[in-house]
Amino acid sequence: MKLDADVIVVGAGPSGAMVAGEIALSGASVIAVERRTDNVESRAGTILPRVLELLDARGIADRFIARMSEIRPFPFRPTHIYAGLKYVNWQNIGSRYGFTLGLPQNHSEDLLLAWAIEKGVDVRHGHAFTGLTQHDDHVEAHIKDDAGADLTLRARYLVGADGGRSAVRQALDLAFDGRAGTFTGIVADAEIAAPWPAGHFGTDNVNGWLRGFPFDKDVTRFNMVHRDSMKIAKDQPITVEEVRRNLNDIAGEDFGVRSLRWSSRYDDTMRCVGQLRDNRVFLVGESARIHYPASGVGMNFCLQDAFNLGWKLGAVVRGEAPDSVLDTYQSERMPVIRRLLDSVRGQCALQFNFTEEGVALKRTMESVHLPGPAFNRRLGLELNGIDVPYAIGDGQHALAGRPVVDLDLVLPHGRLTRVGELLRRQQFLLIDLTGSAAFDRLLTRSPKLSVVKAIASRRTADTANLTTMLVRPDAYVGWASDEVVDATTLEPELNRWLS
Ligand SMILES: Cc1cc2nc3c(=O)[nH]c(=O)nc-3n(C[C@H](O)[C@H](O)[C@H](O)COP(=O)(O)OP(=O)(O)OC[C@H]3O[C@@H](n4cnc5c(N)ncnc54)[C@H](O)[C@@H]3O)c2cc1C
Repeated sequence: MKLDADVIVVGAGPSGAMVAGEIALSGASVIAVERRTDNVESRAGTILPRVLELLDARGIADRFIARMSEIRPFPFRPTHIYAGLKYVNWQNIGSRYGFTLGLPQNHSEDLLLAWAIEKGVDVRHGHAFTGLTQHDDHVEAHIKDDAGADLTLRARYLVGADGGRSAVRQALDLAFDGRAGTFTGIVADAEIAAPWPAGHFGTDNVNGWLRGFPFDKDVTRFNMVHRDSMKIAKDQPITVEEVRRNLNDIAGEDFGVRSLRWSSRYDDTMRCVGQLRDNRVFLVGESARIHYPASGVGMNFCLQDAFNLGWKLGAVVRGEAPDSVLDTYQSERMPVIRRLLDSVRGQCALQFNFTEEGVALKRTMESVHLPGPAFNRRLGLELNGIDVPYAIGDGQHALAGRPVVDLDLVLPHGRLTRVGELLRRQQFLLIDLTGSAAFDRLLTRSPKLSVVKAIASRRTADTANLTTMLVRPDAYVGWASDEVVDATTLEPELNRWLS
């Protein structure tokens, strides 16, 4: 059977572009089919520290920062809202990227797709997925192109990255359990009379919640949930008068809103699949769950799904990893997705209680609890989707299954580097901080493994006694030790991940 590609990715939004790029980076061939032929409105507008770390691990974080800097000087925010409350301070989470990058989703998609194409992905716009057939050794995707022609593409695996109404999920007939929406909010991208003053504006009271901030060139974004208009159905048109009225009610002014470039009602419908894989087909991003966009983090979780699956699928297709690695996509990402949905439920309960009691609770949260560094850090990890470690195995080091600390390293010949920089080729890194020859025989163990002898020039409290660490291509710690160990100790760990 002649295959068209190793992997077909359906949908080239954020999740699709990221997973396709990651698979292609491994050397596998990828076709991405996308039904759209144009760029669309931006729902998301934020890239969070953990995703910046992942982009950095591929050497492209600076592209995202540079793009936003073209739109607005100094597009960095050292803080982030949680349930609309002020503020989570990113300094508490210990990331090299201690800021939110405010970048409209269409720019993020554009940059991710350009990178995926650079890595060799064959992107076919105007191609809509209509169905699939699974076979023992391959999967067929049925496609309709924008000229109305039907075609069939064959690949070893298929990834559904086609968003909340996923046709892939429906073709698999997977249950999408949850509940319908209970309220609506409004996102309004507005032209306003005078330039928006620097920074974000946020307020809430018994009339509702509002956030206003500069978004794209000459566009100010307002997110709002108004006590009365939250009962309006999602499909009801939004007028500029409704937006002005809501702004006046909640903030006491209409910010000089003249017209709306784009607006939409969104709701808190919450649904999720029970499984992320059906035989040769995987789901990433919103094809697997939908939820209220609490604190503007949803896309960041979708990108992390894609980053978790991409290298694994690529390595299995290339025969560089055992098939069992693919099962870890479900076992690692599903707990994170469930935790996300719980977080969203909790945030909505707090944020959209506009009674006097609810407002009093929010003020207590802001003045008493949020300023505490430990609590603040906890919420920061939650927003980044890294408060749940990946279950890597019993009796492991505390760092195993956690995002790798981007340690500054000095290599034996004196070059300064760091973990994020060494990950660029999507390698496993076996970092030996003792300088011994213990791992020399692993130098040729696998094309996916790099053995790195180095000194950590600065350590964190978590890594104070670390001697050896196996870092996965997705910037997670696969295994670590504070003891002096040899290559034999590491063999079972390497066999788990590498053929
Ligand atoms: C109001 C609002 C504000 C938000 N703000 C933020 C924010 O600030 N930060 C954040 O992180 N997240 C935010 N989000 C969430 C974010 O927009 C989503 O999480 C993200 O778009 C999901 O990405 P995805 O690639 O999984 O799906 P999508 O973005 O939906 O992409 C799916 C792609 O698949 C394509 N497709 C669909 N069907 C087919 C088919 N049959 N064949 C071929 N292609 C197909 C679509 O055209 C699309 O390009 C917000 C959401 C909303 C509603």
